[in-house]
Amino acid sequence: MALTELDKQLLWHPYTSMSHPTPHYVVEGANGCHIQLADGRQLIDGMSSWWSVIHGYNHPDINQAIHNQVDQFAHVMFGGLTHQPAIELAQKLVAMTPDSLTRVFFSDSGSVSVEVALKMAIQYWHTQGKTSKQHFATPRSGYHGDTFAAMSVCDPVNGMHSMFNQALTPQYFVAPPPTGLDAPVDQDYLDSIRALFEEQHEQLAGFIIEPVVQNAGGMRFYNPAYLDALRALCDEFDILLIFDEIATGFGRTGKLFATEHSQIEPDIMCLGKALTGGYITLAATITSDKVALGISSDGGVFMHGPTFMGNALACSAANASLSLVQSYDIEHKVGQIHTWLEQALTPCEALAQVSSVRCLGAIGVVELHESVSLHDIQPLFVEQGVWVRPFGKLIYLMPPYIISEAQIHTLGKAIYRVIEQHFNA
Ligand code: PMP
Repeated sequence: MALTELDKQLLWHPYTSMSHPTPHYVVEGANGCHIQLADGRQLIDGMSSWWSVIHGYNHPDINQAIHNQVDQFAHVMFGGLTHQPAIELAQKLVAMTPDSLTRVFFSDSGSVSVEVALKMAIQYWHTQGKTSKQHFATPRSGYHGDTFAAMSVCDPVNGMHSMFNQALTPQYFVAPPPTGLDAPVDQDYLDSIRALFEEQHEQLAGFIIEPVVQNAGGMRFYNPAYLDALRALCDEFDILLIFDEIATGFGRTGKLFATEHSQIEPDIMCLGKALTGGYITLAATITSDKVALGISSDGGVFMHGPTFMGNALACSAANASLSLVQSYDIEHKVGQIHTWLEQALTPCEALAQVSSVRCLGAIGVVELHESVSLHDIQPLFVEQGVWVRPFGKLIYLMPPYIISEAQIHTLGKAIYRVIEQHFNA
């Protein structure tokens, strides 16, 4: 039986029906910015495999690092044992992230790193005698993952989790930050957060937010000055500030971390996706001495310890990926991609179906008036020789950082043509 038929019978895919699945294409290879399909077609990748493969596929340095490590050992339990790749990676992360973040917890995926962050916040306040601080505040339109605690802080309506609402811990939602990177700060918005904090601070362990860009919740860009104001509010009300940089980390927004667009530092930061250059699943929750040592005061231990914590292959891939990140001038590199994305996507503004085009760093978004049908639109992109996977009203590009100007223009033209074809069919 053909692989695609077996796939349909046997496998779940992300957010996909088992009875009416969208088409899935068999991949035979991937190199640089290209994905090679088994039917011989070659696609230019505009997605970095959900924003993770920042250096492109099949990178010799990351390949070599994994080869070297697998010849030593692939994995050992992290309870009672440790190793050089994990220690090196922790050193690198502490050096790269804001100064106050000094303690690293490795886990398996972005969602789990969010679970860990939420647990850290609750456990920290517990050790400080504030045992009622067990809930979180967060803006609507946020997305933090698919596991239960992560789902509880995703947008309760637009998120992909509305049917689980009764099963989730109730959290406190504020409006999403008003959009526009340069839009003036709306004091009424901040006052609404202050009002919530005044009323609920005894329940609130933390405020979790994706800095500067709300990603899967709508590709919404907002003024980083809100982060500065949030820091002050969190300090005033004894609430830990948690930044989910899983999507924005490692250069995507034009700074190494989106936090750097602001003047402040969070108490806890979650990283994942691009951490290993998109090679192997790995995430990190990084926190301050205050939180880490607070949790461990009076002989306390942090209650989390996944089987594959600190996996040596994943840490080796991450070390190679971060060496590459450090070897480029990331702001320059992503700045170039930003210019090319603006040039390539601006023509789409002329299409009647398009409501706006916006770019930040290596993120380019074409927002439509109506949602697209993935079932219909995906094959059109493949016919154009590109890999672009829209969601809802959003057609967006988050390409690998090694992409060329010509490849971005090809992606932009493909988006323009596909919008015309999809809506005029
Ligand atoms: N947080 C953010 C901001 C994300 O974009 C994602 C994934 N899209 C997650 C958390 C969850 O990460 P993972 O899929 O690795 O569990």
